[in-house]
Amino acid sequence: MTEKLYYKDAYIKEFSASVISVEERDGGFDVILDRTAFFPEEGGQSSDRGYIDDIFVSHVYEEGGVVHHITDKAPLGKSVTSRLLFDERLEKMQLHTAEHILCGIIHTLFGFDNVGFHLGDDEVTFDVNGVMTREMLDRVEALANEAVFANIEVTAYFPEKEELNSTEYRAKLDLAEGVRLVRIGDVDTCACCAPHVARTGEIGLIKVLDFMKHRGGTRMWLVAGRRALADYREKYENILKISALLSAPQKETAITLEKYIKDTEEIKHALKSARLSLAENMASAVTERVGNAVFVFDGFSIEELRAFSNIARDKIGGILVALSGEEGNYRYVISSNEEISVKIKEINTALSGKGGGRGNMAQGSFSATLVQIKTYFE
Ligand SMILES: [Zn+2]
Repeated sequence: MTEKLYYKDAYIKEFSASVISVEERDGGFDVILDRTAFFPEEGGQSSDRGYIDDIFVSHVYEEGGVVHHITDKAPLGKSVTSRLLFDERLEKMQLHTAEHILCGIIHTLFGFDNVGFHLGDDEVTFDVNGVMTREMLDRVEALANEAVFANIEVTAYFPEKEELNSTEYRAKLDLAEGVRLVRIGDVDTCACCAPHVARTGEIGLIKVLDFMKHRGGTRMWLVAGRRALADYREKYENILKISALLSAPQKETAITLEKYIKDTEEIKHALKSARLSLAENMASAVTERVGNAVFVFDGFSIEELRAFSNIARDKIGGILVALSGEEGNYRYVISSNEEISVKIKEINTALSGKGGGRGNMAQGSFSATLVQIKTYFE
């Protein structure tokens, strides 16, 4: 069994230890020390990283009470000095303790249990077995931050059996022995073996970023401390850009954007009716003629091609072809005073087209050049 220094003191950044064994594994090495402050991957939390002498420790795991350190080289001596990447560790302690506070408050207020936790390099999620609403979360988040401002002491201890039996605490597993309790004042008591901050003030801001229904309960995304600052900075950069683009004060960007979207919808609507009028006016200007006729428009939609065709059709003796698009890829509306739908298959075959219609109008697209189309019809 490895002596676990992180149980005694979560703030050990550097420690000396003796090498028990070194084994080659998957191109690297698996190092066992007699004692360690490296917290292994456990309960959804990624492991600590750091150095044994000057050899990088990329991953740490525990198996049957023994902590294994994965390194890229083998340590040379029997006695080694190790150090953690403590910035990473502190960040995890902030996030992990924040999760205790949130889950403790949710449990107290709503009786939901924590049923999942993931603390990775990019995101932190936790799950409860009840449905949370935005209002519920706002309340929980406010209380969680009050617990931070109160700078409550966080204590971790292995209670005697009697004390454990008479203590109310949250636990994912029903453990009878070796239960380590983590108490955050009156806010929460939970069985946990991970490192936590010593006082809640060290957590900094706690913010629930998002939530969604998950397996009948709720999954929540959390930031705290240093990650909350990084998140705030990223969003601040974003709001600065949006504010400049909209020429609006930061706090009025949403309302300004709403107005902007509404204006855009009105412009789209006005543009659409103007284009339909244009199509109809162009149709009115068509002179009567015998035989087929091909008309090409710039940027007309199918709807506009149809509006044109509805009026122009009566002036064309044969088939009226209205096109829009680009060389090799034209939208078409084909119409005639006679039944066109029977001919459309033959037309599509000749001009690599697809589409169809009913009665005297058909619509679709041609993968053909304008010359090919004109040659076919005229
Ligand atoms: Zn914990």
